[in-house]
Amino acid sequence: MLTVGLAMLQGARHEHAEALRGAAAELEVNVNIVECRRASHVSPELDALILPGGESTTMRIASQHESLLHAIFDWMELHPHRPVLGTCAGAILLSSPGEGRQPFLSATIERNAWGRQRQSFESAVEVILDTPSGKDSTAPEAQRDIFDHLPLEMQSQAAPVLDDGFPGVFIRAPRFVTNGLSCTPVAMLGEEVVGVLDGTKLGLTFHPELTIDRRFHRWLLHQAGQSKEVK
Ligand code: GLN
Repeated sequence: MLTVGLAMLQGARHEHAEALRGAAAELEVNVNIVECRRASHVSPELDALILPGGESTTMRIASQHESLLHAIFDWMELHPHRPVLGTCAGAILLSSPGEGRQPFLSATIERNAWGRQRQSFESAVEVILDTPSGKDSTAPEAQRDIFDHLPLEMQSQAAPVLDDGFPGVFIRAPRFVTNGLSCTPVAMLGEEVVGVLDGTKLGLTFHPELTIDRRFHRWLLHQAGQSKEVK
């Protein structure tokens, strides 16, 4: 059983939970998802953590009351080998945690660098990360949710599994400043780096949880299993 914390800061949290369940089914492992709303939820039991997208400024402000972000960053410093997936605003928080802390992703990231919400877009992304393969979840039957419902046809078409890449959904996305980037690029949009790996911290400027291609969530679970073994 793997225990994954999901930072309930703001933004696309439920989609991440869904994606994690899907990835766990694909890998045939059990996952326990802990919704982290308060500092006390960020326990040493967590094998991995997800920092979802949203609005990073709002997240910082919203978390002040419960010291949630503070607890999350403490947890990351205490357990440097446990994997963390930060998507979009989550990647911003990883690269600029603030509070006088060292960045968890040694990359500079520029917020809203593609423009406004209207300039959000979808485009195929090339993934150069070793991700464990899983059972095929693209068949309609495999997409049933916890209520045993199939997704809207429109929705499954909007987030296809692409043969030639990963369906990158960019929503008011940030951009990595690649000059002097010292972590490993793992996802590319043409020449542009849109995903980086720094040790066990993975930062993506797009939203993998809005697609049915679960390979980044499978990566997280796989890494979590590995770091558990060496514990
Ligand atoms: N624009 C947001 C920010 O700067 C990030 C957008 C997202 O997470 N989709 O925090």
